[in-house]
Amino acid sequence: MREFEKNIRKVEPYVPGEQPQNKVIKLNTNENPYPPSPRVTKALEEMDTDRLRLYPDPACAALTEALADFYHVKPEQVFVGVGSDDVLSMCFLTFFNSEKPILFPDITYSFYKVWANLYRIPYECQKLNGDFRIVKEDYAKENGGVIFPNPNAPTGIYEELDMVEEIVRRNQASVVIVDEAYVDFAGRSAMELIDKYENLIVVQTFSKARSMAGMRIGYAVGHPRLISYLNDAKYSFNSYTMNQAALVCGVEAVKDREYFEEGLHKIITTREWAKVRLGELGFRYLDSSANFIFAAHPKYDARELFEALKENGIYVRYWGSERIEQYLRITVGTREEMEALFEFLEKYVGN
Ligand SMILES: *Cc1c(COP(=O)(O)O)cnc(C)c1O
Repeated sequence: MREFEKNIRKVEPYVPGEQPQNKVIKLNTNENPYPPSPRVTKALEEMDTDRLRLYPDPACAALTEALADFYHVKPEQVFVGVGSDDVLSMCFLTFFNSEKPILFPDITYSFYKVWANLYRIPYECQKLNGDFRIVKEDYAKENGGVIFPNPNAPTGIYEELDMVEEIVRRNQASVVIVDEAYVDFAGRSAMELIDKYENLIVVQTFSKARSMAGMRIGYAVGHPRLISYLNDAKYSFNSYTMNQAALVCGVEAVKDREYFEEGLHKIITTREWAKVRLGELGFRYLDSSANFIFAAHPKYDARELFEALKENGIYVRYWGSERIEQYLRITVGTREEMEALFEFLEKYVGN
């Protein structure tokens, strides 16, 4: 090691799913298989590029107001960022500043550990139970903050709002972040609770249900006091996080409620059909409420199946980590993409 390297901040980075540039059936990073709202296309086509000379609105007012309208909250309860990864990272930096460990599940979004390490936040993972469910009692101990996704990833399991509320209620001495990247496919959002609990922050994204992973838009909704702390951190880091195109397209996407709801319906229908098909082929799967299914086959090794799928141009996600070494996470694609997946699986398990 060079002398100067002793002073370098070393981090073990998050490893994102592959983004192959050739045409494959891409069921590995939970993107939406359908295009964004036609209003987004129109906005891009009509965009005033002269506007790009100028810095974008640092307050992101138009987008914040559109989201506030959509969710029936006040604009001062909304914070927007460059995908929910940016928003979550900002939340870690802002809200998790205690000597006590933050708590999150052992099997969950692997970025939490990375941010905790990056910002030197102590953390303690809480084991999901044998059915891969969050045990709410585990979050009753002293802590420096709590974060979990609902539905959880990569399990897809959605916990009812009562349970989420209990975790928030028992932790009023710390901030509780509920990462709702997939909640639109699932059920009630914890946003219903934000006027009741000042320590709750709910984070969502345009990447999954709104088909805009490439545009990078995420947001947090919570008490104005929390939002104001988030803004202080943001303005101490980078005032212009959101680019002009994202601000304009984000507003158009939020305004198209009908297209959004139709899209959800298609994914949910395909997901439920895919569960039945997986069951018929002998897979065990968790009862996902998200746009992916976490599945294992008792007779076939997951890594081998993952490689075989990939060789045939079908990408799914595989980690091979403790407790989930026999599971694959399969994003719900279009009906046609899923037919192609099942055509392959039928042959594979038939062998
Ligand atoms: C996809 C995902 C995110 C991040 O999505 P962005 O594209 O950064 O908005 C956050 N949390 C979970 C659990 C996710 O699966």
